Amino acid sequence: MKNLCLLFYYIYYKYFFKFKNRTQLLKHQNKLKKKLFKFVKIKSPFYKINPITSKMNKKVMLEHFDSINTCGLNKDDVYNLCIEGEKSRNFDFNIDGYTVGLSSGTTGQRGLFFVSPKNSLKHAAFVMSKYINLLNKNKIAYFQRANSNLYETGTSRRLQLCFFDLIFPTENHIEELNKLKPNILIAPSRVLKQLALLKKNGLLKINPKKVINIMEVLDPNDKKIIMENFSVKFIDQFYMATEGIIGLTCKNGNIHLCEELMAIDYEFEDKATGRISFKLTDLYRYEQPHINYKMTDILELSKEACSCGNPALSIKAIHGRREDSLNFKNAEGNNVEIYPDFIARTILFSNEDIEDYQVIQQSEDTLELYISPNHQKIKDDITLNLKSLLKEKNNIDEVKINFIAKPLIKKGGKFRRIYSVINS
Ligand SMILES: [Zn+2]
Repeated sequence: MKNLCLLFYYIYYKYFFKFKNRTQLLKHQNKLKKKLFKFVKIKSPFYKINPITSKMNKKVMLEHFDSINTCGLNKDDVYNLCIEGEKSRNFDFNIDGYTVGLSSGTTGQRGLFFVSPKNSLKHAAFVMSKYINLLNKNKIAYFQRANSNLYETGTSRRLQLCFFDLIFPTENHIEELNKLKPNILIAPSRVLKQLALLKKNGLLKINPKKVINIMEVLDPNDKKIIMENFSVKFIDQFYMATEGIIGLTCKNGNIHLCEELMAIDYEFEDKATGRISFKLTDLYRYEQPHINYKMTDILELSKEACSCGNPALSIKAIHGRREDSLNFKNAEGNNVEIYPDFIARTILFSNEDIEDYQVIQQSEDTLELYISPNHQKIKDDITLNLKSLLKEKNNIDEVKINFIAKPLIKKGGKFRRIYSVINS
């Protein structure tokens, strides 16, 4: 029955859930918004007494978890269940049929989410409709920081979904991957890069047709290595958060925000570069409403429209969270925010032999840098270029750069290439 429903939604999304233009798309959104708002005004204790326009973000969502949700779920129950699951690495659990999960919370606060069985099925079908052709046989290797059973929904003869736990070192999965021979590989870019290098060494013998980056900002250097070794024209992006499926790549390799499922309200952070911050309203999530929910991610809008026919906003890049920006004081004592991709570009253009790196801002005047290979020439080049970015372009004096021997990675956690501890 579950597979039949999945197939139904897959066909619906793939062939019928289309919008010719933005007017049609916005009309669809407005209709669903009205319906959702009417529902939460009756069913959500929070929205009964608060306006729809109330400030909403991860913090407020967690604080008012019990009164926002419309199913009477209790925060502590959900939280304890998630912690149990994470400890035992057994994610086959739910509360009253709802898939529950805990987000990584690399910036201090963890997020709690739950999804109804119907929505969880629909999410899976929606993603499948964008990435998979069910007329072919699909074998998917999915590296996941296991915190929910959300995407283990679809397994059938045409679709084999194998889950690889990110908590184990990537090398441990080689044998199983070689046996599976997946045609679709889904993993965070850092793992994709490790797999690409294992393939280069001849240890990994898989030839996926589609390579999908999930959870992490795609670094330009990693992108190159992954594309070269897996011989793919572009790397698909699966832009998903606790808050839902936010963006997916089209056949042209451009990321479109999933405006069919959520209304996006954005404002420019920087008009010249097309950088935006945004709020989302999930049009279908009645169980745990996300309404005018402020995200901390910074996106870069594409300047040209995509030719694939999808009128949803297309974005050039996901620049990660606001908290990933580095913050300094310039010579006049003013705050200067430097976006992580500027740092990334500066480092990568310093020396072409750089294979990997990490930048952590420890304080307003100290950066820690991990660099591989650990050569003096590379270190000197980076130091020179970083100082030039800070001093000449931004008038920031006296930033100490300390090199560290190993990158900082939380086991099973998200690797953050560039971040600031003073924001966390
Ligand atoms: Zn497109």
